[in-house]
Amino acid sequence: MDNHFDLIAIGGGSGGLAIAEKAAAYGQRTAIVESALIGGTCVNVGCVPKKLMWYASEIAQSVRDAPELGIQAEITAIDWPTLVKGREGMIDGIRNYWNGYVETLGITLLKGSARFVDNKTIEVDGEHYSAEHIAIATGGRPIVPPVPGHELGITSDDFFKLEQAPKRVCVIGGGYIGVELAGILNSLGSEVTIVALEPKVLETFDPLISETVKHNLEHEGITLNLPFAVASLEQRDDGIAVINKDGTALTGFDTALWAVGRRANTDALNLEATDIERQPNGIIPTDTFQNTSVAGVYALGDITGRAPLTPVAIAAGRRLAERLFNDQPERHLDYENIPTVVFAHPPVGSVGLTEAQARETGEKITIYQTTFTPMKYALNTREPRTAMKLVCSGENERVVGIHMVGDGVDEMLQGFAVALKMGATKEDFDNTVAIHPVSAEELVTLKEPHTGD
Ligand SMILES: Cc1cc2nc3c(=O)[nH]c(=O)nc-3n(C[C@H](O)[C@H](O)[C@H](O)COP(=O)(O)OP(=O)(O)OC[C@H]3O[C@@H](n4cnc5c(N)ncnc54)[C@H](O)[C@@H]3O)c2cc1C
Repeated sequence: MDNHFDLIAIGGGSGGLAIAEKAAAYGQRTAIVESALIGGTCVNVGCVPKKLMWYASEIAQSVRDAPELGIQAEITAIDWPTLVKGREGMIDGIRNYWNGYVETLGITLLKGSARFVDNKTIEVDGEHYSAEHIAIATGGRPIVPPVPGHELGITSDDFFKLEQAPKRVCVIGGGYIGVELAGILNSLGSEVTIVALEPKVLETFDPLISETVKHNLEHEGITLNLPFAVASLEQRDDGIAVINKDGTALTGFDTALWAVGRRANTDALNLEATDIERQPNGIIPTDTFQNTSVAGVYALGDITGRAPLTPVAIAAGRRLAERLFNDQPERHLDYENIPTVVFAHPPVGSVGLTEAQARETGEKITIYQTTFTPMKYALNTREPRTAMKLVCSGENERVVGIHMVGDGVDEMLQGFAVALKMGATKEDFDNTVAIHPVSAEELVTLKEPHTGD
């Protein structure tokens, strides 16, 4: 076999598949190196299995709500193994699709772990391969802090290996993965506590979001114990104890789940043999065009430390392929105003600047916001809160931030993100006739600026 390619993508996840697919379509000799399962994090242990579990947990919640609307339904059992079997079957289908598609496109799939030999050569399973262009897209893995007893905790990867629902779970971490898995577990019948270093869940989001999500988590029966600095985990007679730095302990868990962040998968790449710059936290810095510090070597997706989301990795990969192989020298991904959703119960949607970020620009900032209980719960005693905020900048009130929590905002956000990206103003929102009765109409009927009182 000729071991020289036009493009080698290291990593067969969202970013690697995206650039390889395009490169092959443009007639380039292309290879993908994948050390585990094709599809990467999103397909195997991320977005896809998580969303299926979220759908199941939403349905469980609807069944609990049903009797108050006169629909006599009750949950008699949650058959976790059936849910897992269905989920894994679907993922198997996605992997089969990708394996077939890669073959159809004539891409060489190299199974094994890639390590660099020099700037333009990698080694996989003892064999050397070189390329004009090498795109590194090796993603990330869950961080497990090296505290005593850390091995008693599982990670999000292990969550997807659970064969039965845990009974009492301590989720360690209040970021988006912690909040999502806590909500799913709670709705599927586990008793859930969240602990985290930060005083708030979803701390990096606009405060309206973190406050509303906190309210909703507690409203759904999840215990929040914040801030809490986990010093160790201990196996005791009554289960796992999660011990705080101050010596206090939460006890009796059958599962502790680490959700304290992810580390870029660049340790095994032997970058020391190259001139590719890497930060101590594993991140490979890139410029606007995904270039690393070595010409012809690029980095994509989670390892770049920028907006670690599947569509971001895909968009960066596709644009890079257009630049390299389709004569579009200026093509690159604009990392501004990337919409993001947290699949909480109800979900979160956010795009653009938070209120604090907007104020840092020095422009005149006007805020419009509302908090309400949507009609969906009019007949229910359960009343999860919906909240929406528009952050507007300048005299013409250009909308620079949209932050929402509520049923349907996960689907609602995409269209509003287009409007924000196009530079829509508050007046454009006001001039758009509302749809009634939906929660989204609130966003185009916000009246008085919020004064913060
Ligand atoms: C629980 C969870 C839920 C998530 N939910 C969402 C969501 O709802 N929406 C969203 O947009 N994003 C979500 N994400 C994030 C999303 O999965 C990532 O942003 C995305 O997968 C990043 O793509 P990537 O190409 O950078 O890396 P990955 O998809 O992680 O792919 C990297 C691949 O490289 C391989 N690899 C690593 N090292 C080597 C090596 N040395 N040699 C060969 N191969 C190697 C890995 O095995 C892996 O297959 C979620 C993540 C998690 C963990």
